[in-house]
Amino acid sequence: MSKELRRQVGRLLRQGPRVLPIVQAGDPVLRRVAEPYDGQLSDELFAELVEAMRLTMHDAPGVGLAAPQIGLGLALAVAEDEGSAGDDGEDDDPRERTALPFRVLVNPRYEVVGEQRVPFFEGCLSVDGYQAVVARPHRVRLHWADAAGRAQVEELSGWPARIVQHETDHLNGVLYLDHADLRTLSSNENLAAADDED
Ligand code: ZN
Repeated sequence: MSKELRRQVGRLLRQGPRVLPIVQAGDPVLRRVAEPYDGQLSDELFAELVEAMRLTMHDAPGVGLAAPQIGLGLALAVAEDEGSAGDDGEDDDPRERTALPFRVLVNPRYEVVGEQRVPFFEGCLSVDGYQAVVARPHRVRLHWADAAGRAQVEELSGWPARIVQHETDHLNGVLYLDHADLRTLSSNENLAAADDED
């Protein structure tokens, strides 16, 4: 598998780090449990892969991207969100969309902390054009290794907790639709129109 993985990454990065195509629901790679990363790639190739994922996430644009979304069954994700606070630092967004600085998540896993679950609309770059309400744990304890391979643990809540749950779920072959309230499924256009009526 490692050799195949290296070949695959080599193919993706043939022209250097760049924006890559995002695979859509129905591609089996999104339904497989990703292979843990334990140094299958050279440091240089790993760094280029992370850079390509960062570029692809920003281009989409999105706040997270998991390796299966570029067709790689590898337990690796990137995440970054500038948050919703305005220039005055005020934020009345009920999603608690606080800033999440850029992170490389290698082999992430999370534990739910507390009982609180919060329902919000959520979307996915691999289910392009739609959103649905998912009730998720408000707080999780995330365990991962960073780009330098150092083990990290952190408790996150609000929107950052939702982002890391969503990306970690991807590495287990889970899409947000699996635990969404499907009666809320809405195109982005219809959701924007409904928001405008408020
Ligand atoms: Zn997604």
